[in-house]
Amino acid sequence: MTSSGHKIKVVCRVRPFLKTEKTDDAVVAESNNVLRVTNPRDSSKDVKFQFDACYGPAIGQEPIYKNDVRPLVETIFNGMSATVFCYGVTGAGKTHTIQGSDTEPGIIPRALEHIFMHQERDAFDYDIRISYFEIYKEAVFDLLKSRDSSTTGLPIREDANRRIFVAGLSKKQVTSFEQFDSLYQKACRNRRTASTKLNNHSSRSHAILTVQVQWKDDISEGKVWNGRLHLIDLAGSEDNRRTENGRDRMAESSAINRSLFVLGQVVEALNIGAARIPYRDSKMTRILQDSLGGDSLGMMIVNVSPGEAFLQDTHNTLSFATKSREV
Ligand code: ADP
Ligand code: MG
Repeated sequence: MTSSGHKIKVVCRVRPFLKTEKTDDAVVAESNNVLRVTNPRDSSKDVKFQFDACYGPAIGQEPIYKNDVRPLVETIFNGMSATVFCYGVTGAGKTHTIQGSDTEPGIIPRALEHIFMHQERDAFDYDIRISYFEIYKEAVFDLLKSRDSSTTGLPIREDANRRIFVAGLSKKQVTSFEQFDSLYQKACRNRRTASTKLNNHSSRSHAILTVQVQWKDDISEGKVWNGRLHLIDLAGSEDNRRTENGRDRMAESSAINRSLFVLGQVVEALNIGAARIPYRDSKMTRILQDSLGGDSLGMMIVNVSPGEAFLQDTHNTLSFATKSREV
């Protein structure tokens, strides 16, 4: 449990203004764990939202990893599952946060470096495998394989132990950070190529990287331990209906809106300890079901932009983020 008693922490991150943006119209300001959103026309209508933590534009990648992500990653070495989501509209900083760049590495490279470092220090022989897939219009595509227009989505199945899995999804063993990184870079290129062919859908699909760490414990009679980490760059949460009206776009945005809505419901249900968690209502939550329930921990990073141009998006984003209650 996190200090707030929630299984899925919700933290907020405000990105800095970009060079191309007007920088004198910030409408959000953070202090401790509260984010205030200013109403530029009427300050009596300012709204405050509360989070487990709030990171302002001056906060770089390292403190977020150290304070919030690292403790989650550590739990996989107790055989647990942990999940990190980035939620927000396109341009708010999800990919920067979860993936980062060469000069400012994000959560994925930091987590993998951490896991390999742990492996070096530890006596156990860890078997580390990754899978990487995206969900686009409720269809699952393997990102570790190249694909063409004839590639169809992978089915979700249940095994004899009632565990949910994606049938046919590749799982590749990685023995060093460098090996991971070259696989991952290649997969990112697969995602970009598919994205160009399919009308730039990368901001319209969820990308899910899973790291599975397995080891045998020689002390307790060869018990096999399994830890899992999911790092997820969610589809942009913008309401595409405002700007797009092609039929395909409608189908696309209703799939996105629906799966994000279900995710919000699942997070909320887990955090209030509800009896029924609606995992089955979307592909993503169904696949993650075994990793979100039980005593596993998770974190949702809510990404917002600072400027007035994004004010409506910011309001929508913050009112979605279940735990970010108005205060
Ligand atoms: P998203 O994935 O949500 O669409 P991106 O991560 O691509 O958004 O971010 C949009 C732009 O803002 C990118 O140019 C990115 O480098 C920049 N950016 C986002 N967050 C930060 C940050 N915390 N610090 C510096 N630049 C950022
Ligand atoms: Mg992105």
